Parts: sequence; C-alpha cells; structure tokens
Amino acid sequence: MNIELYKKSIKCPVCQNEFKTTKVKASRTRVLKSDTDFMIYYKSENPLLYDVIVCQKCGYAALESKYNYFPKAKKNIMQDFITSKWNKRDYTGERTVDEALLCYKLALYCGQTLKFKKFELGGLCMRIAWIHRLKEQRDEEIRFIKLARDLYEDAYSNENIPYDKMDENTLTYLMGELNKRLGDYRESINWFSKTIGGTTKPSPRIEKLTREQWMQAKELYKESGGENAEVI
Ligand SMILES: [Zn+2]
Repeated sequence: MNIELYKKSIKCPVCQNEFKTTKVKASRTRVLKSDTDFMIYYKSENPLLYDVIVCQKCGYAALESKYNYFPKAKKNIMQDFITSKWNKRDYTGERTVDEALLCYKLALYCGQTLKFKKFELGGLCMRIAWIHRLKEQRDEEIRFIKLARDLYEDAYSNENIPYDKMDENTLTYLMGELNKRLGDYRESINWFSKTIGGTTKPSPRIEKLTREQWMQAKELYKESGGENAEVI
C-alpha cells in the first residue's frame, strides 16, 4: 500500500457492516497552494479524495465528519431509496479522481434523499466543484459552484449553522467569492461588505482575502458595465 495512506476501521450506522476504509495520513500531507475558495492543492496524496466514506454493503455514503450522525428514523427511507437500488461496489481502497467523484455524488444523493441540512449539502457540492476543477471540467465545476452557492445562501437565511468548522465571516466571504466566480458581481460585493461590516471582526486571513477579492469584484463589475459601479 502507498505509504501516505492507511486503513481506518468503520462501522456503518445503517447496516452495522464493519469495514476498513482508506485515508491519507495527516503527517504525510504536503500543501502546495490553495485557491481563493479554499480548494487546497497537495504535493502528496489528496485527502479530498478520501473524505467520503461508502458502505459497500448498503450504499450509505457521507462525509467522514457526518458519517455516524445517521438518523435512525430514516432507516426505511435508506432501504427504499438507496439500498434496494444499490449495486454493491467497493470504494474502500485507493481511489482515482473519478472514483472519488462517484463517492461524492453518492453522498450527495444520500444527503438529498435523507434530507440533510442545506449547509451540509452545500459543502458536498463545493467539494464536487473542486474535483471537477482538478479534472479541468469547467462547465461541471460552475454547475456545482452554483448549487453550492444556492444551498449555502438558503442555509444562511434559514438554518442554524454550526459555526464550529466555518465561522460566519468565513461563510459570508465564501458567498462573495462564489458569486464572483459565477459572474454575479453585485451579489458578490454585497456579501464581501457583510464580512467586513459585520458585528464580529473577521480573522486577519479572511479580512485580507475579502479585501483582495472585493477589489477584484468591483473591477469586474465596472468592466461588465454594472450600474453605478463607481459608488459601491
Ligand atoms: Zn451499511
């Protein structure tokens, strides 16, 4: 086995299947650079490819951080809509980018079927967009950035977001950045101003990113002939 990888024991919360899945050793990850929407590039194996766990027996797939939070009341939905259609496949070994993409799409299907929070579905769509970026599939990348933007926006307005992994300023910054990437510059500028003008001060990293991308969004808005761009 690749020395950057290891096996982790998992017990499926749906069917109780015990299996081992592959992960990247944290001590072996080497970051090369990151994009302004937080996609990270690695010199080592890419942990992004292994973030989703898939039970080969019942087809339950979710991000590792959410895997054990399966709601027992939804076991019947799982059986009727996922397990009954599941052609047993094994994604527990080393993954190609294409296999990782299938795992994410499966996790998104499970999440939508089981009605997971919009914030969680947004996180899956964001990661799927990054995988399409790795594959240089621009149209699919944009399609999933748009889905992520819409889900995060819905979550921001209607859900109690657990701001432990991503604080509110990081989320409003990301909304600005995703809108900028989609060419919705006016929306982008509105979100960046929420980050800077909010009740809590953003971290120095988020403040720097916001100011840089805000400037770029204003320029792009002007270039696109946006109304009154100069006064924003
Ligand atoms: Zn299972």
